[in-house]
Amino acid sequence: MKLRKINKQVWLTEVELDGYNVRGAVICGDKKVVVLDTLSHPRDMETLSTLIQGRALIIVYTHADWDHIWGTGGLIWEDARIIAHTACLERFNTDVPVTLHEKQLVEPARWNGVQLVPPNETFQDEFCLDLGSLTLRFYHLPGHTQDSIVVFLEQYGILFMGDTVETPFPCLEKQSPLFRWITRLQRWESDPGVKTVIPAHGDMGGRKIIQRNIAYLQDLSAGKDPGVFEPMTQFYRETHGANLGFALNASKSDAFKLDASKKNNP
Ligand SMILES: [Zn+2]
Repeated sequence: MKLRKINKQVWLTEVELDGYNVRGAVICGDKKVVVLDTLSHPRDMETLSTLIQGRALIIVYTHADWDHIWGTGGLIWEDARIIAHTACLERFNTDVPVTLHEKQLVEPARWNGVQLVPPNETFQDEFCLDLGSLTLRFYHLPGHTQDSIVVFLEQYGILFMGDTVETPFPCLEKQSPLFRWITRLQRWESDPGVKTVIPAHGDMGGRKIIQRNIAYLQDLSAGKDPGVFEPMTQFYRETHGANLGFALNASKSDAFKLDASKKNNP
């Protein structure tokens, strides 16, 4: 795991997986430390103890996809507050253990040390966390998954976006609510307080990243192929193909019509 210092209170955690990177963060208040996503393996979190240095640990999950939450066992998490969206907790009873089981069957040596640690504090729409000298605000932003959130660190203008945006483009799931997703991204795209956009995968940058993701999703929601971006890795070529399929199927479903009818009412 690579640790990168952004400023005196914020570090990024990054690991390379099979063909892509995953990024989380550590945000240090005076008496509390937030670990935002624990990445994919307990090993990824082992070096963080020096940064945490006996301060109270708060873990936050941006969503329950495996590459963001499987590292928790590498932290001293037993007394930690673990905050996530309500739907994230529900996923610990559904797809989260299934995915771990599947990966353990294929590569037992690699994944047998992973322990699933669910959130113990959840919220529905918004949540505010006071770290003393810093305030973190959490907002539900469903789209990539139903439980996805973004975390805004207003003092530094940093928006941690999890997988709600990506470079070159986001990953859809079967029933992604495209209109709601786009509307909530537009809110951030037009916020001048957002100086730095940090997705969990791909390049970081400014609000242009959000703009590009909105354009991609708008094309999909209009039934158009947004086209390919060069250069694209094998992972993103496949993801783009899957996105087109999901958008096409979703446009025929009732869930999509319901979402479309809520287009101006997020
Ligand atoms: Zn991810």
